Amino acid sequence: MAGDETPQAPVVAGVVGWPVGHSLSPLIHGEWARRAGIDGSYIRIPVEPGYEDFARAMDDLKSQGLKGVNVTIPHKEHALRYADAASEAAAKAGAANMLTFGTETRAENSDIAGFAAAVREQADAPGPYALVLGAGGAARGVILALQSLGVDGISIANRTKEKAEALAEAFGLAAIDWDRREDALATTDLLVNTTSLGMTGEPPLELSLESLRLGAIVADIVYSPLETKLLKWAKAKGHKTVDGLAMLMHQAVPGFKAWFGGDAVVDEALRAILVAELKKRGRL
Ligand code: NAP
Repeated sequence: MAGDETPQAPVVAGVVGWPVGHSLSPLIHGEWARRAGIDGSYIRIPVEPGYEDFARAMDDLKSQGLKGVNVTIPHKEHALRYADAASEAAAKAGAANMLTFGTETRAENSDIAGFAAAVREQADAPGPYALVLGAGGAARGVILALQSLGVDGISIANRTKEKAEALAEAFGLAAIDWDRREDALATTDLLVNTTSLGMTGEPPLELSLESLRLGAIVADIVYSPLETKLLKWAKAKGHKTVDGLAMLMHQAVPGFKAWFGGDAVVDEALRAILVAELKKRGRL
């Protein structure tokens, strides 16, 4: 069996990435399988960067009988390329975080609904103006989620300006200079960090929230640490916050339902398991 673990239960699904050893997804699916009384496991599957390695690994996993996989950095675009068919969301995002194997391999992007569900769960309906920091793979899903929530005045700032401009053109947004990112805060209802800044091992996100509109929501999709400096500052200033763990849990729901065939509920008990794991790793 491909993967870096030897579980007792038959392997149903897994998460493919590089690196993938830190992934919390096996804990999420493991808990749902336990609750549903399903004898199946979900494993971490390290696959080196590059499409050829990815495609070979997917062929192997299919022949081993896996029902599907989640896909993370750096393979989300490879997943879309590998699939025979893609959902509208995955095609729009240009990336997929789910592949379901069957007579055809189908690509889905559940990051979009995952982020939208996280905002609904942890904050109120956002106002019409959002500022998205970052223009990587995750930013695309977040932008589509914001549009699905009715947020139509989206500005995007990214260190590499050309990438922000490309996304702005593709999704009908306004691109602003990375160095001018604070200028947009006074008119922002929802601020979202989709960069890797603030993540354990990465540089901090430099951003003063002094001018952020009163009542604005602040979201950070980084979940390690769980409470990033951005979220800490935002809470201290009285803003509602949305953390990356909420998105991570919600994006996992469609995969579990499709591959394990059981119910998948995001609740406090599941969050507590993940928070305990982050605490064990010193990542709160
Ligand atoms: P990615 O495609 O590699 O994009 C990284 C982004 O961060 C780019 O916009 C990049 O800017 C920016 N960045 C990196 N270093 C920077 C620096 N020193 N200064 C300014 N900007 C910098 O990664 P991704 O897939 O979008 O993921 C981004 C983050 O989201 C990761 O921390 C990932 O773990 C998290 N994530 C969380 C979830 C969840 O479920 N909670 C889901 C997906 C992703 P340039 O374009 O200039 O390089």
